Amino acid sequence: MSVFDRFLAASLPITPRFVIGRVAQRYIAGETVDDAVRTIRALNAKGATCTVDVLGEFIEDLSEAKATARDYSAMLDAIERESLKCNISVKLTALGLLLDEEVCTSLVRDLVVRAAPLDDGFVRVDMEDSPVTDSTLALVRRLRGEGHPVGAVLQAYLFRTLDDAIALAAEGIPVRLCKGIYNESETIAYKDREEIRDSYRQSLRALLEGESAVGIATHDEVLVADALALIEELSPDPSRVEFQMLLGVREWMRDELIAKGHRVRIYVPFGANWYGYSTRRLKENPQIAGHVFRALLGFK
Ligand SMILES: Cc1cc2nc3c(=O)[nH]c(=O)nc-3n(C[C@H](O)[C@H](O)[C@H](O)COP(=O)(O)OP(=O)(O)OC[C@H]3O[C@@H](n4cnc5c(N)ncnc54)[C@H](O)[C@@H]3O)c2cc1C
Repeated sequence: MSVFDRFLAASLPITPRFVIGRVAQRYIAGETVDDAVRTIRALNAKGATCTVDVLGEFIEDLSEAKATARDYSAMLDAIERESLKCNISVKLTALGLLLDEEVCTSLVRDLVVRAAPLDDGFVRVDMEDSPVTDSTLALVRRLRGEGHPVGAVLQAYLFRTLDDAIALAAEGIPVRLCKGIYNESETIAYKDREEIRDSYRQSLRALLEGESAVGIATHDEVLVADALALIEELSPDPSRVEFQMLLGVREWMRDELIAKGHRVRIYVPFGANWYGYSTRRLKENPQIAGHVFRALLGFK
């Protein structure tokens, strides 16, 4: 990362909203259900399925959780109406996990019941930071126990993840495996890039050796190549494996995987609360902010 990009990353908190908005266009489908439908339709036409995330993470009362659930419900109506190849990804804290676990469980259950009859009838429960890892996995297990089509996410940067992968694989619970996006303590998480990759490889092997569906969520070329080799070695049923990528990130990789016949799902965030999501994406990859700032200032 250049000194300029590093400076941009540090100055994100004081960056004008319109600048963030300009950069965000690439990573966010827009503010409305119609915006999301347009983006998903275009991705479906390219051969990718999608999973849609209604943005809205930090809530203070349950009315906001219920409003988010209504937004998801409207999205599910649109998925059905427009025959989109798309499921939904939810964040439990946006649905009230930290306010009232029972209300949260019941909101997620209602969404899964609504989603289940659709062609791609499945709800993915995103994984957030470590204080909610146990409660998130517990909620997924509880709804699976009731027979609902839900799945979990594991983060390779956590020391615990290989054990979780082995357990979830044995239980037949679908898992999306990613590196992890939150800033966790070194007492519970790997910080070194190669250690995170090793954890990812081992956890992926455990998942692919099991029976459940696996979402390989990474844009890391090294890990994608390793995953392809592992798929070759283990020959899992192709219907239980898919690559997953974020909207706007490494689209050439998406196109290459699709062209080679792999299943690819794109994570499509949309909603009025795009600002928090965007600043997190930019902190993760400030080079992209750098390109836009340079363009705005007329630099090459
Ligand atoms: C479908 C999907 C769902 C996810 N769900 C969760 C979740 O539930 N919980 C969670 O903690 N994390 C989630 N993540 C985020 C994930 O944990 C990583 O933070 C993120 O994917 C970056 O890691 P990477 O494996 O792509 O590797 P990296 O080494 O970080 O990225 C490889 C390259 O891809 C490009 N790149 C990667 N990310 C971005 C980006 N955001 N913007 C622009 N370019 C980028 C860069 O060129 C980078 O050099 C998800 C990721 C995906 C793809």
